[in-house]
Amino acid sequence: MKSSFSYKFLWVLATIMLVSLGINAQQKKTIYILATGGTIAGQGATEVTAGYKAGAISVNELLKAVPEIKDIAFIKAEQVANIGSQDMNDDVWLKLSKRVNELLSQSDVAGIVITHGTDTQEETAYFLNLTVKSEKPVILVGSMRPSTAISADGPRNIYNAVATAVATESIGRGVMVVMDDKILGADDLAKTNTLSVGTFQNPNYGPLGIVYNGKPIFTRQTLKRHTSNSEFDVRALDKLPRVEIILSYSNATDLFVDAAVKAHVKGIVTAGVGNGNITTALQDALAKAVKNHGIAVVRSSRIMTGPTAQWDEVADDQYGFAASWFNNPYRSRVLLMLALTKTNDYKQIQRMFSEY
Ligand code: GLU
Repeated sequence: MKSSFSYKFLWVLATIMLVSLGINAQQKKTIYILATGGTIAGQGATEVTAGYKAGAISVNELLKAVPEIKDIAFIKAEQVANIGSQDMNDDVWLKLSKRVNELLSQSDVAGIVITHGTDTQEETAYFLNLTVKSEKPVILVGSMRPSTAISADGPRNIYNAVATAVATESIGRGVMVVMDDKILGADDLAKTNTLSVGTFQNPNYGPLGIVYNGKPIFTRQTLKRHTSNSEFDVRALDKLPRVEIILSYSNATDLFVDAAVKAHVKGIVTAGVGNGNITTALQDALAKAVKNHGIAVVRSSRIMTGPTAQWDEVADDQYGFAASWFNNPYRSRVLLMLALTKTNDYKQIQRMFSEY
């Protein structure tokens, strides 16, 4: 009698455990981690040295440092590239964007986390923000300390990125970066410090939110066009138009504009002084580049915050220039490359710079 009671009790207990495991498994979403390299996959000579080699370890080794992510998601990992992001390029961008679009069109994939070096993370984030055709969360993550350092920031950042990717609240917010417990929008992303773990900021608009106790808490939402509301589509492209950035400073000459014209670039972004102003020599050379060579010119600024506004000191309409508004030179270059896949009419380009 007693043994039949304990047998039944064990049977009920086992059923409850199996059912709750099943429910838990059903609730866990599938997240793909696409690895591209960077410090987060970097290896130092010792745990305390600053020097290291970016992109030295594989995605599977990287994920071993943060086994906790398996409690919150089904993880699938792919190595797309393994480079320091100073070497990020159009080929990897196109490969990444196409792979993200392919994966997110599958109903069983809930979101994507991309590991990336921090040097050009803002450019890749913005490129994806304008070319991913899905509302599902896409999160970029990096680290400032290599995986072998004391207090490496990578594992915590990866955990927070996966936690943000699985959250329903993260849907439809555009591409984001999760680092240092902050959620940052690709619409206004800037690396602001060469070494600090808190390097990333949204300097004009403020962060989208924070990650607290493994949950995202959002405090703003972007009004800029992005992802499924973007007019740009690179799925059928295998090349992007060439756009260069030219800096203005005291005494800046036409030297680099001439070089760009000779190299047959399709577009030039200026990193001007103040409100996107440029030396007279630069301005004259750029006006000729537009008029004689059909090169698209967008004025931006080397100042980190504030708009490069139309209708100020430069007569944009007279020269056929567009003004970048809140896009810094690096995002402006990405947007101009994509704009040039559709048009080189400066009025259309100006519209795009007001909307994205
Ligand atoms: N320069 C490397 C890169 O951007 C390392 C910097 C980093 O990831 O923090 O990939």
